[in-house]
Amino acid sequence: MISEFDLIRRYFSRPTFHTDLGVGDDAALFRARSGMQLVVSTDTLIAEVHFLSGTDPEDLGWKTLAVSLSDLAAMGAEPRWATLSLTLPRIDENWLNAFSNGFYACAARYNVDLVGGDTTRGPLALNVCIVGEVPAGNAITRAGAKAGDDLWVSGLPGRAALGLAALKKNIELNPEGEAQCLSALHHPEPRVGLGMALRGIATAMLDISDGLAGDLRHLAERSGVGAVIEYERLPLLPLLAAGADETTALRCALAGGDDYELLFTASPVHRPSLAECASLLAVPLTRIGYITADKLLFQQPDGHLQTLDFSGYDHFG
Ligand code: ADP
Ligand code: MG
Repeated sequence: MISEFDLIRRYFSRPTFHTDLGVGDDAALFRARSGMQLVVSTDTLIAEVHFLSGTDPEDLGWKTLAVSLSDLAAMGAEPRWATLSLTLPRIDENWLNAFSNGFYACAARYNVDLVGGDTTRGPLALNVCIVGEVPAGNAITRAGAKAGDDLWVSGLPGRAALGLAALKKNIELNPEGEAQCLSALHHPEPRVGLGMALRGIATAMLDISDGLAGDLRHLAERSGVGAVIEYERLPLLPLLAAGADETTALRCALAGGDDYELLFTASPVHRPSLAECASLLAVPLTRIGYITADKLLFQQPDGHLQTLDFSGYDHFG
């Protein structure tokens, strides 16, 4: 059995690229580039709450970092440094090797240095603290949406929830659809490039980790506005093509967690630049509604407006 220190040296001490002092001392040292503001966020993943304990460790390593990167993407920030706190029930070197490979694959893709962490024994839990940079004053918060703005979403929200339902055998998807939904669940691509590209365009933004409708409520509250989501604009076709019925597709798209897509608002004058941005970055961007003065509403295909009542995931709800 290897020691805690061998474990850190073996699996979590790869070279860094923009750090003054990384893993191995009491704390790490790094510096922001001039003119940049630092952005920090932390996220914890707990076995059986955020992932099933049989999850492939390489996927889990990727996702552990990816969910934190999504928070920085939602601020329009560029990720730079991360710490990783691991709580492990036992030392399983095969698991650690795969987890570390997945984590570092995501770190390499998004140019993140792992600069420290903590390793303890207990029920499996994973925590990342991520630090990024944004040109001072250019972060995109949840607070800037205005009545008349368009409401946009990236990617295909609902796929991760559909994948989870298929995994739990609550629904049967066709093989191709199931593969896409499981990939969305296990291997989310944080929208880092998109988040940065939306500086100066998006008036408000957040990432939808807990379900589109519930997260929209957070944005609306912070901005002091309302919104209408139009059923006919929602990108449901890919969910239906995967084998979901209409009710399931709608429920997954509006209330499904774990998507890590960006939900943002922008003035209608930016429609052409957003179309360009979508094709340049090869990320689907869909205008799904608009911002109003108050109330969260859902517009049915026949034009009828009803209260938007799909709430997101609440750990204490
Ligand atoms: P301390 O006792 O001061 O908390 P530790 O023994 O926990 O120090 O950690 C030793 C070094 O290893 C520190 O630089 C710490 O940041 C790093 N470290 C510990 N666990 C991890 C991990 N899981 N991933 C990356 N670095 C880690
Ligand atoms: Mg420690």
